[in-house]
Amino acid sequence: MIGIFGGTFDPVHYGHLRSALEVKEIFGLTEVRLIPSAQPPHRDQPAATATMRLHMLELAIKNQPGLIIDTRELNRHGASYMVDTLMSLRQEFPIEPLLLFIGGDAFNQLKTWHQWRHLFDYAHIVVMTRPGFELQNPDDFFKVRQAGKITQLAHNAAGKLYFQQVTQLDISATAIRNMIAEQKNPGFLLPDTVIAYIRQNKLYQGH
Ligand code: ATP
Repeated sequence: MIGIFGGTFDPVHYGHLRSALEVKEIFGLTEVRLIPSAQPPHRDQPAATATMRLHMLELAIKNQPGLIIDTRELNRHGASYMVDTLMSLRQEFPIEPLLLFIGGDAFNQLKTWHQWRHLFDYAHIVVMTRPGFELQNPDDFFKVRQAGKITQLAHNAAGKLYFQQVTQLDISATAIRNMIAEQKNPGFLLPDTVIAYIRQNKLYQGH
């Protein structure tokens, strides 16, 4: 099974990295692909350039076997729609179960994603939740897809919805950018190598 973790990574932080590592181990994934988006469709454009966000990711996952960077969204023109990304991954991996990991916040917005129902044609969706999370008023579309066991994901290439608790680190890239703009120290929220890169390149100072 292959994990897919999309994001702006502006900058990448321990919230992303810890959950990527945890789900890799919990689901026994061969790899987790971190996929930085070029032009996120749902939000303000990133503060750092695509190249810089990519460099920060590279620094962050050095020496972490099984976490890899996938640049297909950066190499594509136009908006970064996840459905296009999954379609292209499916062409590359015709039979392997693909697991798209999203946070609870992203799941609450899922129905605003471009062709969101078709995401399930290409991958399973795994929502990384807080302890005690329950799906509120699930509609039939979600109910019929919800899986109770990881083996159900392993036995199908796509189409299931699964909720997995992961360690919650209350870290956001927005908070980190604001901290840097206010000349506060973001230490211990993201790797030191990434902090050094941000300093060298004077990123996020006028945010
Ligand atoms: P921003 O503050 O700029 O919106 P972010 O920190 O939320 O950024 P993104 O790159 O937008 O990071 O997030 C990519 C993915 O990572 C999303 O699925 C999001 O839910 C998830 N994510 C973000 N922060 C955390 C965290 N602290 N723990 C686990 N997952 C996270």
